[in-house]
Amino acid sequence: MMNLKAYGYIETEENLDGLLPGRITESQRERFTVMTELGEVTALLKGSFYYHADMRTDFPCVGDFVLLRYSESGDSLIIKVLPRRSKFSRADYTGHAAGYAKTVLEQVVAANFDTVFILTSLNQDFNLNRILRYLTQARQSGGQPVIILTKADLAADYFPMLAAVQESIPDVPVHVISSHSGLGLNELAYYLIPGQTVVFLGMSGVGKSSLLNVLLEKHVMKVQEIREGDSRGRHTTTHRQLFMLPSGAMVIDTPGMRELGLFDAEEGISASFTDIEELFSQCRFSDCRHQTEPGCAVLSALNSGSLTRERWEQYQSQQQENRFVQHRSSYLIDKRAKDKTNAMWSKQAKKNGGRKQ
Ligand code: GDP
Ligand code: ZN
Repeated sequence: MMNLKAYGYIETEENLDGLLPGRITESQRERFTVMTELGEVTALLKGSFYYHADMRTDFPCVGDFVLLRYSESGDSLIIKVLPRRSKFSRADYTGHAAGYAKTVLEQVVAANFDTVFILTSLNQDFNLNRILRYLTQARQSGGQPVIILTKADLAADYFPMLAAVQESIPDVPVHVISSHSGLGLNELAYYLIPGQTVVFLGMSGVGKSSLLNVLLEKHVMKVQEIREGDSRGRHTTTHRQLFMLPSGAMVIDTPGMRELGLFDAEEGISASFTDIEELFSQCRFSDCRHQTEPGCAVLSALNSGSLTRERWEQYQSQQQENRFVQHRSSYLIDKRAKDKTNAMWSKQAKKNGGRKQ
């Protein structure tokens, strides 16, 4: 019999009521694969999960610990998702295109991990600000961040990049690795201990699959399965999403997690509205809301026509959407930190008579 503790399960205070605890290792639309003490089972969701659209955070995801009504023949039923100790979510836009009132739902894409590996490659894509943004996301997730600088074999001299990271982020461990040469991989053993779960966060191409493959010791990611009882003997490629490493640690790698790594909205907005952000610096008051304030550079640009109303509205709606997404999920810059900085600045500005020096 398998011990679920090997999968990071911590016995719950809750009355199990004859239900079987398990951990979700794979999710495919409505069907889940769950590791239990009786082995791996397939499971569906109890109907009530579907009743309320705004209950989407309760939707199970890979890494979740759940309670099942076990079925010996056929699918088991997921009755309950146990409280999460950490999670990554992404915003799920619903009714967006259809023109309904816009609702952003939170969709959890990975849960119950201990460590977040933030991967960045030591090549021309190296970008400290991006690492900082991922770090904010990682800290909000509830997991412990670790920075992994990848592809060391491609950098003639990685020391300046390593030093830059260590200097701006002194409280987070940093490791330099190469999945190709094997450099630094032994340092990761500290995080890869039995029962611990790691997730990878980072842009596409930084080497997440390569690292996972070496940690799996060359076992392949895509597993070919023959579906039994299928007369044509069709081959189905299934994508495992929670991997048990030979070390006894687990890695969660889901499509949703990979989409988080692609998300770089803040950077995108600033880059495409530099003209507007340039105007902000010309407003008389540093806390100008660009509504009725005297000396507002935005209002004056709107008046003179050098900034079109359409473009200004575009900027505002993008910002609003961005803030909303940030608020609802663990995306992007920590809004609270940002508000605090803003509040500090406006306090400072008031002290100075509301004027910039
Ligand atoms: P992912 O999109 O983050 O999963 O990145 P992949 O693991 O698919 O890697 C993207 C590309 O980078 C592939 O061509 C890999 O061979 C290459 N790559 C990954 N790790 C290393 C490394 O340590 N050194 C070098 N030179 N290339 C690497
Ligand atoms: Zn203004």
